[in-house]
Amino acid sequence: MSKVIMKLEDIRTYYYLRKGLFKTLVVKAVDGVSLEFRAGETTAIVGESGCGKSTLGRTSLKLIEPTSGKIIFEGKDITHYKGDLKWFRKKAQIIFQDPFQALNPYHSIYRILSEPLEIFGERKREVIEEKIVNALEEVKMHPPEEFLTKYPHMLSGGQRQRICIARALLLGPIYLVADEPVSMIDASSRAEILTLFRNIQKSRDLAIMYITHDIATTKYFSDWIAIMYAGKIIEYGPTREVLRNPLHPYTKALIEAVPDPDPENRFKIRPVIPGEPPNPINPPPGCRFHVRCPKRFDPCDKKEPPLKKVKKDHYVACFLFT
Ligand code: ADP
Ligand code: MG
Repeated sequence: MSKVIMKLEDIRTYYYLRKGLFKTLVVKAVDGVSLEFRAGETTAIVGESGCGKSTLGRTSLKLIEPTSGKIIFEGKDITHYKGDLKWFRKKAQIIFQDPFQALNPYHSIYRILSEPLEIFGERKREVIEEKIVNALEEVKMHPPEEFLTKYPHMLSGGQRQRICIARALLLGPIYLVADEPVSMIDASSRAEILTLFRNIQKSRDLAIMYITHDIATTKYFSDWIAIMYAGKIIEYGPTREVLRNPLHPYTKALIEAVPDPDPENRFKIRPVIPGEPPNPINPPPGCRFHVRCPKRFDPCDKKEPPLKKVKKDHYVACFLFT
């Protein structure tokens, strides 16, 4: 197996909301997640909106402080590292869902792409130009020179996301969080962008956390799947194995879920599981999924099932498999 780049150990990230003068509500967005991200591999984090995917991604990048747990990057515990994080910011990058919001509308593509290089101390114009042209080529913006003087609004959604990817790659990261990178992009360009991620991951030996609510996209674009439910990983394994042989009733439901046929809702997945995901402020006792689970039985509302190894590399948190 290849080198572990990012290791998360029992991460909990809670948000504390002040309610009135004396009351504080605790939102348990991520509630005990352990995962490893290896060089040259993509791990998909899959789950419904609100289950804690973005919080997990942002915690791994030290954009939010975890309440407890450890973040180990290249073997180094950086959880409470308070010094200059510049070296880490260079090596660990994020791609957001909305490429339009992520780009300054008043800056040309050249300026957008030269900025990170300048921040990290590059002064020579020829070097900057060469790096930008190479990055644009890498994200298949042909010919690169033609895009330098353009502004974000002159590009399509897919092209804008390519610019975001180019910007992330310029500093030579080894770990990338892609947070729903294609959900705001035209359906026709989604596969292209995901293929691009796949190729870059291979050619640069990147470790990628690919966040998505759409399990269908994991098939060709990820090596591992972690299914997240209410702040926890409830199933984990190699993508092909999990898709072919899903164990958890929630994973099965996600695989059966189909896109909503209403064009108004084309980015939504029609729920096949009745009921709402639990409120992260007050998760139910026992298994967090039991209230919606068609297979629930005696222990499910009392004890929380641990994530257990069922087969080689395939883990599930469900009492049906203990
Ligand atoms: P996802 O990316 O899976 O949709 P998020 O990580 O964005 O999930 O959110 C997980 C939970 O944490 C949700 O209940 C959300 O409302 C809550 N949450 C997210 N960000 C904040 C915040 N800044 N303050 C309080 N609660 C938050
Ligand atoms: Mg999110």
